[in-house]
Amino acid sequence: MITGSCLCGTVRWQVDGDLGTMSHCHCSMCRKAHGAPFATYVSAASGDFRWLSGEEAITTYESSPGFLRAFCGRCGSVVPDPADDDGHVFIPAGVLDGEPGVRPTSHIFAATKASWHIIGDDLPRHDAYPNPDDGPNVDRPAQGVAQGSVLHGSCLCGDIAYVVTEPIKTVHNCHCTRCQKARAAAHTTNGFTSANGVTFVRGEDKLVTYKLPEAKAFAQTFCSRCGSAMPRINKEAGYTAIPFGSLDDDPGRGADDHIYTGSKAVWYAIEDDLPQYVALPH
Ligand SMILES: [Zn+2]
Ligand SMILES: [Zn+2]
Ligand SMILES: [Zn+2]
Repeated sequence: MITGSCLCGTVRWQVDGDLGTMSHCHCSMCRKAHGAPFATYVSAASGDFRWLSGEEAITTYESSPGFLRAFCGRCGSVVPDPADDDGHVFIPAGVLDGEPGVRPTSHIFAATKASWHIIGDDLPRHDAYPNPDDGPNVDRPAQGVAQGSVLHGSCLCGDIAYVVTEPIKTVHNCHCTRCQKARAAAHTTNGFTSANGVTFVRGEDKLVTYKLPEAKAFAQTFCSRCGSAMPRINKEAGYTAIPFGSLDDDPGRGADDHIYTGSKAVWYAIEDDLPQYVALPH
């Protein structure tokens, strides 16, 4: 038995049976929806899947015709699509609890991967879907164009857009369990700038921030319409965390390191050469 849940714990489900194929998706839609460098999905037979709670909290957004993306309306975690009825449910691996019993077998949409992300492993890489019959070669239209040192970012539905006007000081791939749940992915890639380094240019009223009650500062900011992770401005602590997956422009740099590797997903192997820290860098 395999279980999964969103960051806030409202949406929970169970799979009675083995999981199917697990693969990393680098498409621009997944990067936006998850606010992560890539998403990892695993399939389960619909007959083995059941909801335990929180189905009513799920919001769906149609990112391309007939393709729904589901997320918890309370905390923003991407969750399985409840309307999936073709015999399989696709589950974001980052919101699974414990050992899923399977490992990723390939990278898909590798041709459109983030310029700032390094694929460090030797798994097969497919430009789009391995089998063209699996679906259209979808891509999200580019939104912003870099102007000088200003970087643009936006959510998947495009209702929210922002600019980064201050330097990005550090970039971490964070493997903590909260980030895994929040982004429903193996890890985040977050860039850090000053508290006034990000300005929302539209859709600020569509932002929702979920603060984890038991945490000192952990919160997730996301678009209420499409669920995409958005920059979180923490005035008190004096920084803004930018989910790199939401950037439209190339930031010209990738992650400096991997942090909180002590709690990384059991199904994910770090195979690039970046420094690794069990918790925070010294
Ligand atoms: Zn939730
Ligand atoms: Zn994808
Ligand atoms: Zn949106």
